[in-house]
Order: sequence, then C-alpha cells, then structure tokens
Amino acid sequence: MNCRRRIWNRNPVLMLSATIAALALFSGCTVENSGATLPAPPSSTVPSANSANSIFFDIDPVNSSMTVKADYIRAGVGAQEFLLNPAFTVTEMVVDGHQINPASVMTPVAVPFVDGYVANDYRLTQFTTSLHIEYTGTLSGSTGSTRYATETIGPDFTFLRWETFCYPLFSPASGLADALNVPIDLSMSVEVPTGYSVQFSSDTQSTQDLGNRTTVFTTAAKMNLGSFAAAIAQFQDAHLASGDYYLLSTTDMSAAVKTIDPVMNQAYQFLDQTYGARTFTMKLRVVQIPSSLGSFAVTDQHMAFDETISYADPTSLQPLIHEFIHLGWNPMPPADSSVQQSRFFDEALTVYLTYRTMASIVGDLSAASELAGFTNLRGYAVADLAPIKDWGVQGQGDLSYTIGALCLFKLSRLMGVAAFDAATRQYLTDYQATPVDFAKFCAEYESHSDNPQQVQQFFQTWIYSTAYTSQISLTN
Ligand SMILES: [Zn+2]
Repeated sequence: MNCRRRIWNRNPVLMLSATIAALALFSGCTVENSGATLPAPPSSTVPSANSANSIFFDIDPVNSSMTVKADYIRAGVGAQEFLLNPAFTVTEMVVDGHQINPASVMTPVAVPFVDGYVANDYRLTQFTTSLHIEYTGTLSGSTGSTRYATETIGPDFTFLRWETFCYPLFSPASGLADALNVPIDLSMSVEVPTGYSVQFSSDTQSTQDLGNRTTVFTTAAKMNLGSFAAAIAQFQDAHLASGDYYLLSTTDMSAAVKTIDPVMNQAYQFLDQTYGARTFTMKLRVVQIPSSLGSFAVTDQHMAFDETISYADPTSLQPLIHEFIHLGWNPMPPADSSVQQSRFFDEALTVYLTYRTMASIVGDLSAASELAGFTNLRGYAVADLAPIKDWGVQGQGDLSYTIGALCLFKLSRLMGVAAFDAATRQYLTDYQATPVDFAKFCAEYESHSDNPQQVQQFFQTWIYSTAYTSQISLTN
C-alpha cells in the first residue's frame, strides 16, 4: 500500500532533498503526491525532431543496457553543469562544436538525496551554445538517488526515472532543486524492440515503426526536468470503463478484467459520496510495475505506476486504491517543504482513507487486524519519536504510513465517524487549491466537532507533543 516514493533525509542541513521532495510531481506515495502544484499537461503538439533539447534512449532489454544521445542548447537549460548516474560511461561529448574528453570535466560529487549517494558532476566551462552527449551503461537497481526510487533494465521490465539520474540533470548555481520544477523545452524519445511498449509519465505523442524496432516520442512542449518516468515492457493492454490498464505479461488478464471495474467503481462511489465529488472522471491510466519498485501516482496525468501484484480479487487492489486516493482526495501540500515532509497530509490521510475504502468494498474490516500495521514504529524507538508536527524536520515522515494513520483513526473514534467524514470532506474542499498546514488541519476538525475543546486537547496530544507515544494502540 505504500507508495514509497520519497525519503526524507534526517539531516536538516541537506535541504536539497527537502526541496526536491516538495517539488516532485509524483504523489506517492506523490506523488505518492501529494505533490506540489503541477504544471499544465504538455499540449498535444507534434513532436519535433528540431526541439531545442532532446534525449533519445535506445533500450536493449535483452542485454540489460541502454545507449543515450542527448542534445541541448545553453539557453534551453540555463546552466552549464549537470549530474549523471555514475553507472554510465560517457562515450562522446561535443561542446560548442568541439569534441572534448568527458573525464576532463567530470568530478564525482555527493548528492544530498540520501547519505552516500554519489553522482558524476560535469562542469562545462566552455558551454555557450550547444552540447551533444552520448553515454551507455546499465541500471542495476542500486543507483537510485533515493532508496525508494529504483530503476532497472531487463527483458521483463525496464524502468527509467529522473531520481536515478538516467539523463543529465542540469544544476544552476542556485542548486539542482531549482531546476527540477522549471519547465524546459525537452523532447524525449525511447527506442525499443518491436513488441515492447513504453508508458511515459507524460503523454505519448507518437510512435514510429522502424521494422524490428519502435521509437516512442513524448513531450516536445514544456516539460520539467524532474518529472520523467518511463516503464517499458511487453504489456497486456486492457481498456476498461475505469481506465486504461497496462499489465505485466505475468498477470492473469481474464481475472483482472472481471475484477477491476466493479472494484474501482465501488471505490469511486464511496470516495465521491463520502469525501466529495471530483471533477475528473474515474478514467485512469494504470501501469503495473514489479512489486519491488514502489508505486507512485502522477497527478497531472491522472495515472499511477502501480505495484499491485494481482488484480484477481478486491483485496488485492489495495495498492491501486491507495494511488487512486492520492490522485483525487489529497489536500494541496503545505507550502513549506519541511512541513510537507511529515507526509501527514498525504500519506497518513491516504492510508486511513484506503482502510475506509477497502472496508466499504469488502465489508466491515476488523480494525484490530487491518490496522495492526498502524502501530508499527518502523524501527524507531518510542523515546525517539518527535511530535507529528516536527516529523518533517526530524526525518520521521515514514511514520505517517502507520502512526499518522493511527492518529486519524483515533480522531475518527473521538469525533464519531460521521463528523470525521464531514470534516474531511470540507477539509479536502477547502484545501483543494490552497496549501494546507497543521494549524489549518486542526482548525477544520475542531470546527466540525460537537466538543471542540476535546478535539483541541487531542491535537495537543497527537500533533503538538509526544504525549501520543503512550497511546500507540488500537484501543480507545
Ligand atoms: Zn502513498
């Protein structure tokens, strides 16, 4: 159920990761996002071979390798320094028309996404007009810049994502984080053997048949550097009422086709009626990924990379429903990225609402068995736990999947489920387009209670102090 997409660095000095997290487009678990304000989806322009900046991935799934050609203009990227995954070998670099030795401009640098992550930093002092780069290598699954963002290249499945620095991430003097959320004119294309399909985190704009190979293009218009992901496999396609599903070849399609629409329809009805209608239809794009890679949602595309293992029965769809809730029933994240990193406003709510939604679909769940995970301390000692409002700065945001969700469960018990649901419905309406924070969250639920002082006291215990640590259980 965890869209384990981001990890917060415990070291508050490393603000880059914090900022990037707040900027990232994916909700996750985003994406799990729970992301920041999203740019408009790319317009459906025809991909242009003459786009100022272009990246071409040539994927060789059988040999688990890829070769990349990238072209940029200086004005198009606004920086002359970029980071690239250290697993790659740069085989050619042409700057302003002059061939240079890549090793002469490269330095390994620590990137503050996770402790110990090192990327290759290329500093191009001569780059004033154009840059051409070619590089090759493999992605083993061990070179992601966050521990939840795993990449892979292989015959069964290939996953490219920006967090693994699989393409140059230009870093202006003000820092990489500033660059990730700035739309640039960027054309991405991926060539794969015929039979494979490519699912981008953005619109696919066209495909070109090359005989035994196929090239798939996306986003010739404005695209953020920090928003690219592509899943490549021999997907089985199912175009259902609830969405377009691209499932792995190992998935039982006939069972999936029977199960998905009824279950997603029930989920939609419950969420719509309980927490507010959404203007989007329930038409999703769902791309199944292997379960080790971490689900996340892409808000502006209304899509999910989904690590649901089987779609054969209602209970098994829980990871997908979690992502669906991120897409439709999360508030706008706090403006302050260190507050956002508590993951309280996206993950705690989403885990709790997933529990409620699943209960509505499969019948009354036993809270004791279903919510047992909520009390999991994820390796923390009780004595180390910070007040929930400080989880972001303390690097304890992972606890929102468990203790944060437990907080909401306890709150619903205290207020009564009907009052809690009414408060949640109004909260999601009020903060659909306005960034939320802890004070706003608390005020909303206090105002919907018959006993505001009691709810206020609850928040003193659960949000503003560590008194909650003595109440981490499912009783009361
Ligand atoms: Zn999530």
